[in-house]
Amino acid sequence: MRVPLVDIAAQHREVAEEVDAGLREVLATAAFIGGPAVAKFEAEYAAFVNAAHCVGVANGTDALELALRAVGVTTGGEVVLPANTFIATAEAVSRIGARPVLVDVDEDHLLIDPAAVERALTTRTQAVVPVHLFGQVAPMEAVTALAAQAGLPVVEDAAQAQGARQLGRAAGHIGAAAATSFYPGKNLGAAGDAGAVTTDDPTIADRVRVLAAHGSRTKYDHEVVGFNSRLDTVQAVVLRAKLTRLERWNGRRRAAAQRYTSLLAGTAGVRTPASAPGNEDVWHLYVVRVADRDRILGELQGAGVGAGIHYPTPLHLTRAYSHLGLGPGSFPVAERAAGAILSLPLYPHLTDEQQDLVVAALQSAVPGPRPAMARARG
Ligand SMILES: *Cc1c(COP(=O)(O)O)cnc(C)c1O
Repeated sequence: MRVPLVDIAAQHREVAEEVDAGLREVLATAAFIGGPAVAKFEAEYAAFVNAAHCVGVANGTDALELALRAVGVTTGGEVVLPANTFIATAEAVSRIGARPVLVDVDEDHLLIDPAAVERALTTRTQAVVPVHLFGQVAPMEAVTALAAQAGLPVVEDAAQAQGARQLGRAAGHIGAAAATSFYPGKNLGAAGDAGAVTTDDPTIADRVRVLAAHGSRTKYDHEVVGFNSRLDTVQAVVLRAKLTRLERWNGRRRAAAQRYTSLLAGTAGVRTPASAPGNEDVWHLYVVRVADRDRILGELQGAGVGAGIHYPTPLHLTRAYSHLGLGPGSFPVAERAAGAILSLPLYPHLTDEQQDLVVAALQSAVPGPRPAMARARG
C-alpha cells in the first residue's frame, strides 16, 4: 500500500526510546503485573479526561463489560446501544447475559438517535450505551437527559474518542462511567490489547477494580466471582509515552481531516463528514459516503490506497446477532450507511503527498464532474 489506512509504526518510532527504557526496567524488575507504570498511567489518563478515577483493564470489551456490571447491569436486563458500532459494544452486554437492544442512528453523523433511544426504553432497561463513533462525541445532552428521567445510568463507549470533547467536557467524563480501548489502532494505542474504565464515582471504580482482579481487593480474599482483566505493565509503559503526544497527534488528525474536507469540496458523489455543533472531534476515522462504494473501494485499493469500511454490517444483520430476529429494514439509516461508508487513510503521520494521492484516486474513481484542480492533477 502506498498509503495505509493507519500507520502505527510511525507512531511507535516517536516513542521508541522512551518505551525501550521503560521496558528494560519492567523486564529487569519483572514487575509484569501491577508494576508502578500501571498506577501512574491510570492517574495520568484520569487527569487527561478530567475524571476522578481510571481503572486499567485488559481490553476495551472487558472495560465495557465491567463498567456495565458495575453500574448494575445483570442477566435478563436490557441495554440500549446503536446498531452501527464495532461488535464489542454488544458483546459486552451479551456476556453479562443481558440483551442488547439496538437502535438506529442519525443520518448526518451516524451517532445514536436519542428519539430512538426513548422509544426503546422498557421496564427491563438497565443502561444506555452511546458510542462515540469515528472520534465524534454522541449526543450526550439528549441521551443523559432521557436516561436521568428514567433513572438509568449512561455508560459511554469511548473507544474511538480519546481526547474528543463536547461543550468542553471530555469523552469518558460525561456518563456515569466510560469504557475505552487502547487497541493498537485507536487514537491512543498500546502494543497489544489494553483498555480502561473512567468514572467520577468511587463505588463504580471500586467495583470494576475488584471484578477485574479475581473479585479481590487483597490477594486470596475473594469477595465475588470476578475476572482476570488487568492492564499489563508493559502496555502501561507504552501508553504513558504515547499519552504525552496524544493532544498533538489528535491535532494532526484534525488538520488532515480539514484538509480532506477542503480538497474534496465540490467533488460530486462524495459526501464528506462534518462535526456536530458543540463537538471537538478527534477523527479516529475519516468516513465519506459514496454511491457504488464496493467498486470505489476496489479502485482505491488497486491504486495503493488502504481505504476501509467501518463497519460493513450493522450488528442486527451479523450472523452473531441473527437471534435478535431483526431483519433488513429494521434500522434504515444504519443499513443505508453501511452500503455507502468508506474510511479514508487518516493518522497523525499522514503526509500532504499521501493525502493528495488518496484524493486523486478517489476523484478518479467516482463518476461525474470533478473540480478543475483535481482533473489537472490527473
Ligand atoms: C475498539 C472498540 C471497542 C473495544 O475493543 P477491544 O478490541 O476489546 O479493545 C469497543 N467499542 C468500539 C466502538 C471500538 O471501536
